[in-house]
Amino acid sequence: MSEFLYNAVDIIENIKNQKVTSKQIVSKYFDNIENKNKELNSFIALNKDLALSKANEIDERIQKGKPVGKLAGLPIGIKDNICTEDFETTCGSKILKNWHPPYNATVIKRLTNEDAIIVGKTNLDEFAMGSSTEHSAFGPTKNPLDLTKVPGGSSGGSACAVKADLVPIALGSDTGGSIRQPASFCGIVGMKPTYGLVSRFGLIAFASSLDQIGPFANTVKDCATILDVIAGYDPADSTSLDIKRDNFSDFLDRDLKGMKIGLIKEFNEYLDPEVSQNLNLAADLFANNGAAVSEISLPHIKYSLSTYYLIAPAEASSNLARFDGVRYGLRVAGKNVDEMMINTRTQGFGPEVKRRIMLGTYALSSGYYDAYYGTSQKLRTALISDFKKAYENVDVIITPTTPTGAFKFGAKLEDPLQMYLSDIFTIPSNLAGHPAISIPFGKDDENMPLGIQILSNALDDSKVIQVASILEKLRDENVT
Ligand code: GLN
Repeated sequence: MSEFLYNAVDIIENIKNQKVTSKQIVSKYFDNIENKNKELNSFIALNKDLALSKANEIDERIQKGKPVGKLAGLPIGIKDNICTEDFETTCGSKILKNWHPPYNATVIKRLTNEDAIIVGKTNLDEFAMGSSTEHSAFGPTKNPLDLTKVPGGSSGGSACAVKADLVPIALGSDTGGSIRQPASFCGIVGMKPTYGLVSRFGLIAFASSLDQIGPFANTVKDCATILDVIAGYDPADSTSLDIKRDNFSDFLDRDLKGMKIGLIKEFNEYLDPEVSQNLNLAADLFANNGAAVSEISLPHIKYSLSTYYLIAPAEASSNLARFDGVRYGLRVAGKNVDEMMINTRTQGFGPEVKRRIMLGTYALSSGYYDAYYGTSQKLRTALISDFKKAYENVDVIITPTTPTGAFKFGAKLEDPLQMYLSDIFTIPSNLAGHPAISIPFGKDDENMPLGIQILSNALDDSKVIQVASILEKLRDENVT
């Protein structure tokens, strides 16, 4: 039975060919969940009966030779900021505890239309704000590779679920790195697609111009399989791109012929020796296997972190205004409406969310608007034009995913700026709206996984998949 665990594509194939039933697969993963979830705190909502009844229904259709979807019988975990009719959706916040969405997000519809089975909702930093999953009202999630360390964040629950074999696939959201950073900390694949490629309808907004949903998987092939299902135009999301898109799975198993790969000069000063060595190892593998590797310059990239920490909180302060005790979730009584709203928001939001709302409100206040919000929008445009120039000379860019491997619980909790620095290499792709993937590559000096990030131009998601699948193969052949 155990050979059917691990890769999503094998699971799908084996269910379809009746080598195993979906019920057996779902039960097996639930055994793992029952054994490990209490300790890991990866899932914060589960429904075994519902999952098994869906599995039974799919198995029956297969046995009768009736048509089934592309993901028939595959169990999936969903980050708890994506709306699901069958589960409450809390964003890891007290303010939405027990809130039951009246509709499914578009990604949920796409997955279930292909007969995937949603097993539960995964933990996250409250409203996806954080890099360690320590900022959840449901308590922290642990890194399955070392229980004293964080799994990364904000999608730490999803990354942990895939690494610990609680599900073969999970979805996350990435506003500044929240898929790629936890994927790197847990040693799995995580991808943020081009902005507008995957519908955000039903993703509870943190910073709408940066948020994007994407998959966590054990392999690049699994990641491409899921992206093929969730990507595509959605009229319900006004930022969704109405374009003809590639079939991403067609870009696996290609070669590097003619591929030009860039290394960002400005990142050198942030690289610790072990992370720099690891990046050079990846660059050498590419160079020795047919790619041309060169250094490129993105002069404005050094402003990315400050730009992000003005734009993201500004958008968050506006998006989170809807949680007022009237429309959703928690309501704490007061003498009048104003007091009710103040009490609700004071008790409902945690400290990091409050910090972001304060930062964002300040950046948007009259008198400071031009100096903070206006300047950061200009820097965002300058960064996009830097990337545009760079992509005239290279196809993809590689960087480390994070400056370090997973850190200990509490290590950065008291110092928000240190926490924010975790995303220094991931944030530029969100600001530009470009695709990026993290694949496990190398280890830190405490034997925790490191990741290599592959970036490309808008809508070159297929190139990202192509180069990632090559690096995965070269790693398995060459690196111990
Ligand atoms: N860690 C970053 C933040 O706290 C990114 C979060 C995300 O991508 N959702 O804002």
